[in-house]
Amino acid sequence: MKNNPVQPIFILPENTQRSSGKNAQKANIMAAKLVAEAVRTTLGPKGMDKMLVDSLGEVTITNDGVTILREMPIEHPTAKMIVEVARTQESEVGDGTTSAVVLAGELLKNAEKLLESNIHPTVLAKGYRMAAEEAIRMLNSIAKDVSSKDEDMLIAIAETAMTGKGAEANKQVLAKLMVEALYITKGSIRDIHVQKKTGGSAEDSELITGILLDKERVHSGMPISVKEAKIALLNCPFEVRTPDTDAKIQITDPLQLQAFVDQEEKMLKKMVDKLEESGANVLLCQKGIDDIAQYFLAKRGIYAVRRIRKTDVDALSKATGATIVNNIQELTEEDLGTAGIVEERKVGDMIMTFVTDCKHAQSVTLLLKGATQHVVDELKRAVDDALGDLGAALRTGKLVAGAGSPEMEVARALRKYGEGLSGREQLAVLAFADSMEIIPRTLAENAGLDPIDVLTALKSAHDKGSVWAGIDVFTGKVVDAWSHGVLEPLAVKVQAISSASEVAEMILRIDDVIAGGQPEKSSVPDFSQY
Ligand code: ADP
Ligand code: MG
Repeated sequence: MKNNPVQPIFILPENTQRSSGKNAQKANIMAAKLVAEAVRTTLGPKGMDKMLVDSLGEVTITNDGVTILREMPIEHPTAKMIVEVARTQESEVGDGTTSAVVLAGELLKNAEKLLESNIHPTVLAKGYRMAAEEAIRMLNSIAKDVSSKDEDMLIAIAETAMTGKGAEANKQVLAKLMVEALYITKGSIRDIHVQKKTGGSAEDSELITGILLDKERVHSGMPISVKEAKIALLNCPFEVRTPDTDAKIQITDPLQLQAFVDQEEKMLKKMVDKLEESGANVLLCQKGIDDIAQYFLAKRGIYAVRRIRKTDVDALSKATGATIVNNIQELTEEDLGTAGIVEERKVGDMIMTFVTDCKHAQSVTLLLKGATQHVVDELKRAVDDALGDLGAALRTGKLVAGAGSPEMEVARALRKYGEGLSGREQLAVLAFADSMEIIPRTLAENAGLDPIDVLTALKSAHDKGSVWAGIDVFTGKVVDAWSHGVLEPLAVKVQAISSASEVAEMILRIDDVIAGGQPEKSSVPDFSQY
């Protein structure tokens, strides 16, 4: 038999990059750790901020995990998976993004050690899954109830979310406003509209029982403010309708033109009459308002605003009780909404319309103020986190304390749970327990405390049964985080654990990364010649 030389076989195109086995795992874990490392220093009340500059030179200064990761030009596919964890956390519960990412990084870091001692990744992934489930079960069992009646607790939740952020200095004022807003909207976070304006300082922020429109009144002859406003809310143009089909009108005589214009004016006048008949003294319109109509409206002392965003129209309807009408001829008194006052005011360098003092408002506006755009932007991010926390707390009705206490308690419980498991899974569960400690350790490190001292003290307090023993980052002492008012919704912790462990499991199962090369330039059609 003749010996044929073996031909190498290529199943992938030439420019494909491939790494497999341990190399792929190492690279993936490294990428995840780098992402976690990038946001780690921002965690907690003493976390630092990051300054991000995009390709156009726009600057963002923030402490918010998800914002940092969104603005960072991240390319590595695994790193992007970690960024996704922050996004999910943000969209599901609105806070805890940094914690989730830091935890995911630590889970992978601790997995690496076990991989090196030849534990199979699927065993590890299974152990992590079991640990995450046990952790969530345990947190549910220690969480306490909260309802919309517990005003102090709600304020504490909002304050905890804002601690260490741009909003820190004014967190009491803001937390109060938020909880007040929550009461007005009957717990519906979606109906709290947050608007930001430069000028003034954060403590000048105010709650408006109504809606703010970025618009001025359409005609300077209109009153600048209307008390006891009766509001007509239209989503159709306040104009003489142009025919749907193209129509040509042939005019042969100048008099005819005049008659045509007169006719149009008459119709507009009729529309204004109709509006006035209903008793309205304010017209808020989603579409345009004809110039001539503006003049008539001004003459009758009606305040009018045009081209209001659809979302604002919906919010206005909720705030004032007005029915959205799409044909002025059908407008009746019952359709009108009410507001204590509708007025034009200058905020910073913007002229705005305030629709406020709505008695039966179900939709409110939190107007945030700050000296510069960077300040208000960061203020809004902190307020959004706090609102997310309030929403999550009311949705599930369960709270835990923070300051590292739930993580320490989970670590303790997992170590106990691990005792009853077989060797390899036990190692994975213990690695998960160790990983949980990254949160208190980072809180301590960021506060300039000695992490070893702090963790030892925390451990012994938890062993003695203090479930809520956490770090007072200002004194370095171990305190009862619950009585210190460091409160967080259970949902934030649960979501962080479940998404961090899911992404870690997913990354652990990957043993081959095959990256197709960039498409060759010539394969992109060249349109320049057309
Ligand atoms: P995240 O994006 O994860 O919400 P934060 O920077 O908001 O990151 O930090 C949240 C962490 O800070 C939580 O673990 C929370 O318990 C902790 N924390 C908040 N306020 C305090 C406080 N007053 N003392 C100690 N820890 C706090
Ligand atoms: Mg937070």
